[in-house]
Amino acid sequence: MVLVVLGVVHRIIPASDEVRGWLAMVSPAIGLGPLVWAAATIRCPSCRTPLLWKAMREQGVLNWWPWLIGLSRCPVCGSDGTLA
Ligand SMILES: [Zn+2]
Repeated sequence: MVLVVLGVVHRIIPASDEVRGWLAMVSPAIGLGPLVWAAATIRCPSCRTPLLWKAMREQGVLNWWPWLIGLSRCPVCGSDGTLA
């Protein structure tokens, strides 16, 4: 995806090394955008704790995903995901 974008931009702007340098720096940030968005928006409906962010921060690199999908209750407030 990023390579495709870079390839297209390379054809549109063939001479500009400066633009390509900027794209090389900015592209990973664009790739991280959805992850940052998900980390900020996946929250407990009851206490608003950002659960994806909490999982990535407090669990190990290999453990955060199994921990997150294994949750049946909010680890902070104990809510089962329904709003009382
Ligand atoms: Zn909660």
